Formats: sequence, structure tokens, C-alpha cells
Amino acid sequence: MDNNFKQQLMGYMAGNFTCKEMAELVTDYLEGSLTLTQRIRFQMHMGLCLACRNYLSQMKYTVATLRQLPSDPIPPKIKEELLRRFQTWKKGKSS
Ligand SMILES: [Zn+2]
Repeated sequence: MDNNFKQQLMGYMAGNFTCKEMAELVTDYLEGSLTLTQRIRFQMHMGLCLACRNYLSQMKYTVATLRQLPSDPIPPKIKEELLRRFQTWKKGKSS
């Protein structure tokens, strides 16, 4: 394919999404809920736009971090135990 034409075509495809639209679609992209056409355009834009690539890698990092957090809150018994130990430790320090 003619290189210039290819560039034009890619510019046209990527131009279908603005950076603002990209930002709105990032979470859907990460969840895999974009349509095929959306995904192609999304990736086209990513290929051409450094700002959106940076944004995507930040989002990926954030999502990965959030997924690592335990979904359950700390059990009250463990929390109590930790608090108790912390208070004992504090008392020991001050006396
Ligand atoms: Zn962009």
C-alpha cells in the first residue's frame, strides 16, 4: 500500500475519535465492552496519539491496582486486634 495513502487512511480512522471521546471509552476498552469497530478506531487513535497512550497506561495501572485491593473490608475482629496491639505498643513506648 502507498505509504502516504496509508497515513491518510489512518489519520481519517483515528480522527473518528477525539481525545475526549477516547478518555470516555478507556474503561469500556479495558473491560472489553467496545464493539469491533470502536475497538479498531480506538487502537488506531492509540497508535497515533501519544497523549492517549500515556493515559491508557495510567488507566491500566489504576485498574490493576484497584483489582488487587481486597473486596471485603477488614473483619472487625482483626481490626480490633490490630487496634489493641497498636494501643499496647503505644503505651509501652510512652512509659
Ligand atoms: Zn488522543
